[in-house]
Amino acid sequence: MFKALQNKLFKDPESAGSLIKRLLKENFHHYRGQYLLAFILMALAAGAGAASAAIMKNIINEVFIAQDATMVYVISFTVMAIFTIKGLATYGQLVILSRVGNSIVAKLQKKMFAKTLGLGIRYFDRTSFGDLATRFGQNTAAARAVMDLVILTLGRDIMAVVGLVSVMVYQNPRLSLIAFVIMPPAVFAVSKLVRRVKRIAKSQFISQTKILSLVKEMALGIRIIKSFRYENQMQTAMTTAISEVEGQANKIARLTARTSPLMETLGGFAIAMIILYGGYAVIHLGQDPGAFFSFITALLLAYDPVKRLARLQVNLNTQLVGVRLMYEILDQEDAHPDEENKKTLQITHGEIKFNNVDFCYGEERVLKALSFTAKAGEVTALVGSSGAGKSTVFSLIERYYDIENGTIAVDGQNLNEVSVTSLRSNVAIVSQDTFLFDRTVAENIAIGKPGATKEEIQVAAQNAHAHSFICELENGYDTIVGEGGGRLSGGQRQRIAIARAMLSRAPILLLDEATSALDAKSEAHVQDALKKLMHGRTTIVIAHRLATVRNADCIHVMDKGRVIESGSHEELYAQNGTYHHLCDLQFNGNN
Ligand code: ATP
Repeated sequence: MFKALQNKLFKDPESAGSLIKRLLKENFHHYRGQYLLAFILMALAAGAGAASAAIMKNIINEVFIAQDATMVYVISFTVMAIFTIKGLATYGQLVILSRVGNSIVAKLQKKMFAKTLGLGIRYFDRTSFGDLATRFGQNTAAARAVMDLVILTLGRDIMAVVGLVSVMVYQNPRLSLIAFVIMPPAVFAVSKLVRRVKRIAKSQFISQTKILSLVKEMALGIRIIKSFRYENQMQTAMTTAISEVEGQANKIARLTARTSPLMETLGGFAIAMIILYGGYAVIHLGQDPGAFFSFITALLLAYDPVKRLARLQVNLNTQLVGVRLMYEILDQEDAHPDEENKKTLQITHGEIKFNNVDFCYGEERVLKALSFTAKAGEVTALVGSSGAGKSTVFSLIERYYDIENGTIAVDGQNLNEVSVTSLRSNVAIVSQDTFLFDRTVAENIAIGKPGATKEEIQVAAQNAHAHSFICELENGYDTIVGEGGGRLSGGQRQRIAIARAMLSRAPILLLDEATSALDAKSEAHVQDALKKLMHGRTTIVIAHRLATVRNADCIHVMDKGRVIESGSHEELYAQNGTYHHLCDLQFNGNN
C-alpha cells in the first residue's frame, strides 16, 4: 500500500509530490545549515508555545486557587521568559527563511535566464514576451513560496501542533479524543477544493501573460496605435485580460477562503463540546481546573497551525502551477546540446555551399532542394519575391534552425558538424530590423568585437559613416540609445549596425536589405563603406532594390524556396526571364 501511495505521489513528474521533491532536492542542500538553524529556532518557538499552554495549569491552581504569593512572581517571570524566547526564535527563523527564499528566487532567475538564452529560435518563435516575463517573475517566486510552505509547515506548524497536542494529551487524554474526532472530516473537506484551485491558477497564468504582452505591444507600437487610432481596441483587449485575471483571482480567493468557515465551524463545535464536558467534569466531578485550563489554552493555540496545515494543500497547489511552468522552461532541451564535442570551424577561403537543402518552419516547406554556392571573397546576391525564402537562408547559415535534408557547408565543413560558437564568430550580419540594446552607442558597436578599444570602435564608426552623427549626439559615443535604439533614426540605427559588423573581423558577411533605411546621400556613403567592408569577404546580400545588387559577382533569383536563375546582372537580364521581368518592374526598362 505504501508503494502504491509512493507511486501516486512521485511517479508522475508533474504531480505535486514529484515537484516538491525535485524543488527540495535541487535547493535544500545549498542551504542545509540555514535550514537546520531555522528548524532549531522553530523547535524553540514551538516548545515555548507548548510551555505557555502548560503553565496555565500553575497559574490557575497555584495563583488563583492556592493563592500562593511567591508563585505569582515565579510564574510571571517564567511567562516573560517563555515569550521572549518565542519572540527571538520567531524573529531569527523569519530572517533566515527570508534570506534563503530571496536567494532561491535569485538563483532560479539566473538559471532561467541562462537556460532561455541557450534555447533555439523555434522556442522564441512560439513564445510570447508576456509568457516569458511571467515565468521569470511570478513562477520563480512560486518556487520560493512552495519551499516556504513546505519548510514552515514541516517545521513551525507541525512542531507547534506536536508540542501543543502533547500538552493536551498530558493534561486530559479523554478530552483530546474529542478534538481528534473533529479534525479528519475538516481536512478531507478542504482537500476537495484542490483540483478546482489548480485549474483556475493555470488559466490565471495565461491571462497574466496576455497583460504583459499587451503592455509590451503598447510600449513598442505606441506610434502605430495612435496613428491608426487603435487605442480603443487595445483598451478592450487589456480590459478583457485584466477582468479575467481579476475574476480568477477572486475565484481562488473564494475557494481558499472557503477553508475558513469549514474550519471555524468545526473548530468552534469542538471547543464548545470540550468546554461543556470539561466544565461539567470540573464542577461536578471535582477534576483539576488548572489542567482543564491548560488543555483549553493548548487547544486554542493549536487551532491556527492546524488551520494552516489544513489549508496547506490548497495553497501548495496554487503555487505549484507556477513551479510546473518554471520547470517547463528549465527542462527544455538546449538548442545545441553536444556543442563541446564539435570541431571548430576552420575558415580557409570562406566558400558557402547549399546542397539540396529542405527546410520547414512548421508544416509548409519553405526551402525545397535549395542549392547554390556563394564563392569565397565574392558578393553573392539573393533576389526574388517576398516570401521566397531569402531571409531563411541567412537563418540557416547562422544555424538558428536545423535543416531537414541536404547539407550546408563552409569551406567543405558541414555546419551540423562544427560548433555553433565557432560558426557564428565567423559570420557578421546586418539585417532589415536593426536591433540596438538600451546601452551606449559605443557598447552597441562593441558587440561586434567584445573588448574592442575606443579607437577600434571609432574607426569602425568612421568607416560606416556614423562617426559624425554620433559626435553630434548629446554624449557622443556614451549616449544611451533607448530601448530598441528608439532615440535614433532608422538610418542612424542601420549605420551603427554596419559599424558593428565592420568591427567584427568575420570573414562571412550577411547583409539583409542593409541600406534600406538610408536616404540617397547616406546610402551612397554607406554603399561606399560596405564596398570596403565586403572586400576580401564572402558576402551574401539580400536586396529588394535591384540597384543595390547590380554589381554583385553572382545573383541567384529565388522563387518558392529554390533558385530559378543564376548569373551576373548582364547574363540574367539577357536571359529574358524572371530577373529581366523584375528589373523591368523596378527600372521601367531603363537599365
Ligand atoms: P522578404 O523578402 O519579404 O523578407 P523572404 O524571401 O526573406 O521574404 P522569408 O522571410 O525567408 O522570405 O520567409 C519565407 C517563408 O517562411 C514565408 O512564407 C514566411 O511566412 C515563412 N516564415 C519566415 N519566418 C518564419 C518563422 N519564424 N516561423 C514560421 N514561418 C516563417
